[in-house]
Amino acid sequence: MSINCCPACASTSNHLLGWKFSGLGDSVFNYTADFHACPGCGLVYVRNVTDTGLRRFYVEECSYFEKPHFAVTSPANQKKYAFYLRFLREHGIDSVGMADVGCGRGGFISWMADNGWEQQCYGVDVDARSLPADAGAHRNVSFRNGNGLGLPFAEGSLRLLTYFHVLEHIRDVSGLLAEAGRVLGDNGHILIEVPDAENYAGTPIGSAFWFSIREHINHFTAKALAAALEARGFAVQAISRQMLETPVQLPLPNYLGAEKCGAAIAQGACHRRHRGFRSHVARGINAPGRPDLVFGCRSDSDDLGVLSRNIRLIAIA
Ligand SMILES: [Zn+2]
Repeated sequence: MSINCCPACASTSNHLLGWKFSGLGDSVFNYTADFHACPGCGLVYVRNVTDTGLRRFYVEECSYFEKPHFAVTSPANQKKYAFYLRFLREHGIDSVGMADVGCGRGGFISWMADNGWEQQCYGVDVDARSLPADAGAHRNVSFRNGNGLGLPFAEGSLRLLTYFHVLEHIRDVSGLLAEAGRVLGDNGHILIEVPDAENYAGTPIGSAFWFSIREHINHFTAKALAAALEARGFAVQAISRQMLETPVQLPLPNYLGAEKCGAAIAQGACHRRHRGFRSHVARGINAPGRPDLVFGCRSDSDDLGVLSRNIRLIAIA
């Protein structure tokens, strides 16, 4: 693969700028980040990071495990968990075997278990320091040390994988989604949240802040996220744009996508229609004043239902 190959849509990307990070001692991110932009899908990404460097950062250097941002009991986080659980149930996804990849302290799966999710909930994180020593009173919660490129689960063994703020940190997005497909088999769903790069400028802290986060190496547009998923056989069921509270009072623009997975869908009529509605996706993104959009195949529209008053279902021809 060319070093200028977009990791989301495989178009040839262009050099955008070099961003010099300094004063970070022997950090793996004490370097000049080589930002590239993709003319095909709008992804902006850092080209010159390595998996070895990233692994070293997350295992040895970062301290997410002690940050209040990830506090399990924070009211803002619990509101987010409730939003996600409601979103899943509105899409008919409830009480299936699942794993939250990049689970940190496990707040989301503990919330799920406390709120009626009856099947097994696994939490997976590459940073063992983040993981709780045990699941406490939750009988159907357990934790495993592992990473998104090699999940500690058998083929086709789970029906839901969630990734909250993971994909913007991963160099090999395609490999991560392929691994998700292996674990999900033909009928699983994947739910992804990443910062919404198309709305960076609209946040109170402005756009430069987001690019200064050294470990954010991918800045996704909706089109880029959809392209990466499609390339691995996923069909987009819904995309939701939200401004959700966080424990540090930083309004984060987020994408929330529930994706239907599987070879049958990828090769079938639904997937062919799906290619057609990519143009609907693009039109929706480019239209001003439409902060919340939902996209889906016509065959999915009955399942989508009414998500909320400020989310609009795009009808697919
Ligand atoms: Zn691209």
